[in-house]
Amino acid sequence: MQRRDLLKLLALICLGGGSSACGTGGGSGGGMARRGRTIVIGAGLAGLAAARELRHNGEDVVVLEARDRIGGRLWTSSAWPDMPLDLGATWIHGVRSNPMTDLADALQARRLVTSYDKSATYHTNGQLLTDAEEAHSEALGNQVRMALHNAQQRDADVTVRQAVAALTQQVQPSLAATRLLNFVLSSEIEHEYAGSAHHLSAHWYDSADEFEGDNALFVHGFQIITDYLATDLLIELSQVVKAIVWGEHEVRVLTERMTFTADRVVVTLPLGVLQSSSVQFTPELPSAKRHALAALGMGVLNKCYLRFSRAFWPHDIDWLGHVSAQHGVWNEWVSFQRVAQMPILLGFNAADHGREIEAWSDQQIVASAMETLGIMFGSNIPQPNAYQITRWATDPFARGAYSYNALGSAPAMRDTLAMPVEGKLFFAGEASHSAHFGTTHGAYLSGLRVAEQILYQIR
Ligand SMILES: Cc1cc2nc3c(=O)[nH]c(=O)nc-3n(C[C@H](O)[C@H](O)[C@H](O)COP(=O)(O)OP(=O)(O)OC[C@H]3O[C@@H](n4cnc5c(N)ncnc54)[C@H](O)[C@@H]3O)c2cc1C
Repeated sequence: MQRRDLLKLLALICLGGGSSACGTGGGSGGGMARRGRTIVIGAGLAGLAAARELRHNGEDVVVLEARDRIGGRLWTSSAWPDMPLDLGATWIHGVRSNPMTDLADALQARRLVTSYDKSATYHTNGQLLTDAEEAHSEALGNQVRMALHNAQQRDADVTVRQAVAALTQQVQPSLAATRLLNFVLSSEIEHEYAGSAHHLSAHWYDSADEFEGDNALFVHGFQIITDYLATDLLIELSQVVKAIVWGEHEVRVLTERMTFTADRVVVTLPLGVLQSSSVQFTPELPSAKRHALAALGMGVLNKCYLRFSRAFWPHDIDWLGHVSAQHGVWNEWVSFQRVAQMPILLGFNAADHGREIEAWSDQQIVASAMETLGIMFGSNIPQPNAYQITRWATDPFARGAYSYNALGSAPAMRDTLAMPVEGKLFFAGEASHSAHFGTTHGAYLSGLRVAEQILYQIR
């Protein structure tokens, strides 16, 4: 930390217990500059974007982050030095007009494009789907989308699973068809929105806007973006916020170690953290906000990277699908062989099964993944040399992967989440962006939005 930053930090910290950093304690009360001192909670994309924008406009800002790293759900692992891998977000989804693309361009960050056109799907027994079967799967996907579209025309909302119930009954006589339907629901809906088909709202599951264009990933990992946004910011790591006490004159933020005081606070805590009540608000949040928090869903998407001595799967394919016997088990895989010439596979588990396996040991997860790959490519395939596994639902500072629209929620609730409270509490984070929730660009845009709200208020 630079000396200038240290001085600013000391000015912001008010140690309730009377630490030497604040002399005798007693608060930063009367002499505060009225234009603004802002505490940003969370050094993920939303928090960093907000803090950077405020700082660029000359404001005093400190970012409090619970982890010992920045980035939040954007987390590039360097465990395999020759191949940085993203354990959280991987792709700029839709590169055209996407603010992540602008940032990446400004940094001249090298990117690779994966393509859904380069995909292959395997039956439950491991056979590759024939062209006719692929066409059948495609047709089933269209039927699912049509059933959901029809459900969106009705007044009463139902879950995605309920909306496709009639289809389930139609295909029930055939076990193979039921499995294919589950595969479509899992790979096309649950993997994308992270919520279970039993909870996703048929009316609103797909309410987000999308950018057009390819899906691009970063050669050196997504972290290049958060590192850039964090440049020159005052960031306090390992500060686990426990309580936010707000009033007319100031806001106090109590961490496990100390108390910070400022004129306002920007809360970018993930939806799952806010739902868990691990951070207490005094006075409590307005009821509309509490209602929105409870109604929206926090989904799960977990990753398992497997590194092999050689690629034993087709080299020209990016996406591999498996129609599993049990719903949602290792349905989707990404290969890094074509795009990065690396014999690495990334297996996903989302929603209910993604949550379930977090209780398993690493060995159980790898064995389960290898069982599926064995079905697809034969029992003689090599064991992985190494693996990397995520557990986002049990991560206390994420409590899930990203938010979704659950039955009983509506997109407008995200606007309620985003609403400032009495000029003291401001909210950002992917869940608070009604048009682009669940994404990196949504988180980033929410950070810019909150900075604009604050700058408007104080000028
Ligand atoms: C597995 C996975 C895959 C994804 N894939 C993609 C993708 O390919 N493309 C895409 O666009 N998006 C993807 N996303 C979504 C994207 O990562 C998120 O929407 C985005 O990173 C969220 O940013 P945020 O700032 O809102 O939240 P976060 O990044 O979670 O930031 C919140 C911060 O608050 C901190 N915090 C939590 N509790 C406390 C506390 N008590 N005190 C202090 N600090 C606290 C956290 O540690 C964190 O740093 C993916 C997410 C996951 C998990």
